[in-house]
Amino acid sequence: MHYDVIIIGGGVGGLAAAIRSAELGKKVAIIEKNEIGGECINRACIPSKTLIDTAKIVNKILKSPWIATSAKINYNLMNKFKDDIIEGIKDNLYQVINKHKIDLLSGKGEVKNEGEVIVNGKVYTYENLVIATGSEPLSLADFPLNGKNVVDPWTAMNMTNLPENIIIVGGGVAGVELATLFRALNKNVTIIELMPRLLPVPGIDIEIANEVKKRLEEKGVRIYVNTKSRIIKSDDKVIFQAQTPSSNEEISGDLAVITIGRKPVTDGIDLKAIKVETDQRGYIKVDNRARTSNSKVYAVGDVAGAPLSATKAWRQGIVAGDNIGNRNSQMPKYIPTSIFADLEIGVVGSTLEELKKNGINGREVKVNMKEIPRAWTLNETEGFLKIVIGEDNRILGANMIGENATEVINTITLAMELSLKIDDLYKVQFSHPTVSEIITEVVQRAIVGEIY
Ligand SMILES: Cc1cc2nc3c(=O)[nH]c(=O)nc-3n(C[C@H](O)[C@H](O)[C@H](O)COP(=O)(O)OP(=O)(O)OC[C@H]3O[C@@H](n4cnc5c(N)ncnc54)[C@H](O)[C@@H]3O)c2cc1C
Repeated sequence: MHYDVIIIGGGVGGLAAAIRSAELGKKVAIIEKNEIGGECINRACIPSKTLIDTAKIVNKILKSPWIATSAKINYNLMNKFKDDIIEGIKDNLYQVINKHKIDLLSGKGEVKNEGEVIVNGKVYTYENLVIATGSEPLSLADFPLNGKNVVDPWTAMNMTNLPENIIIVGGGVAGVELATLFRALNKNVTIIELMPRLLPVPGIDIEIANEVKKRLEEKGVRIYVNTKSRIIKSDDKVIFQAQTPSSNEEISGDLAVITIGRKPVTDGIDLKAIKVETDQRGYIKVDNRARTSNSKVYAVGDVAGAPLSATKAWRQGIVAGDNIGNRNSQMPKYIPTSIFADLEIGVVGSTLEELKKNGINGREVKVNMKEIPRAWTLNETEGFLKIVIGEDNRILGANMIGENATEVINTITLAMELSLKIDDLYKVQFSHPTVSEIITEVVQRAIVGEIY
């Protein structure tokens, strides 16, 4: 059977590429060895956010004494709710796949020769190939996964009985989100992070990292930063040897969740045979149109390297589909990051510190959430928005922590992607009272002075 486009991997990246190229008139097949939706829908973004959102609702009720009720999470019902959401989203995906007459081939896609993919022993030929096989947790020598009490995030989130003492290795995005969730479920949570700060991720301001640390510690999460650790025992208990800046101690828990270390999935795909180049860690090299070193082969999503986010995967899939369909399309300059800690975080572009290292000058303007009326009605006045403005008055970066930060950051991304100047934004009015007013306030302050 011959296809214009064969896509290996039915995660968000592969689906976006499939749908877009089918929309542009191509005959498309998508090969999936497991479940359509990949990591994001089945095991990562959607399940983790469903659980975290539940925890947040409970927290909100508990901190609102004027609501005359008590709230407690029923873990089993919450998990069922999560499973129903995943199924609902997948049902929609199947409908879109059918609508666009995309063939869904179940099985592992293998590539041995140029122009051919083998699925269940059957050979399919293609004009264009899209590799969208994602990434998977890496079992590291210091933290060997055992599927029992040293596990990856997904296994932890699906445990029917979560133990009392949970140690999270890695204080990055996944580590912070899981700590939020487990603490809300009343577990004793410890984070161990090698770097001197939480969220050591490009684009994330140190002030945000400090605020997150403060909030988590206030909620009772124990946090070790600047700490090199390794598991020395994982029988009944998991025991870590941890070297902090001032001491060498043993940290013990019932469960270790390892959030660091992933590797690209390219098993069964002979990249050398089809002349597709990778970087040193095995991630496929692509240009800003998702093209690999082979002009007929595209790669999208995690398998094509950082940032490992569904946000990027989806867009890269669209860009690949566009280019396969002869539409001129490139990756956007800015890909925002959202973090769903107990206070949301939205980040886009660079911090002032990062820009300075590259010889770019700028200035920061900051508005605190407590200066925004809507923050008060939502009973969540902590947090802030900080933007970095370049010498030409364009926004070069933004960091927000606070209620609805993951929504506000999208509006700022829009302004940045369209290269709007602060003066352009000054002409725009947002409705009152909304959290987005924090953008009008930051613009107001950047140009004249504060209103709130
Ligand atoms: C706990 C956690 C939370 C996260 N939360 C967020 C979030 O809130 N927002 C966000 O943007 N990102 C989030 N991410 C990251 C996000 O999940 C990934 O970046 C995204 O799923 C990558 O999509 P993908 O399509 O590249 O790969 P995947 O989703 O991994 O899909 C790849 C698919 O390819 C299939 N496959 C692999 N090899 C073959 C083969 N040879 N043949 C057939 N099929 C194959 C796999 O079965 C899989 O279904 C989170 C990650 C984690 C771990």
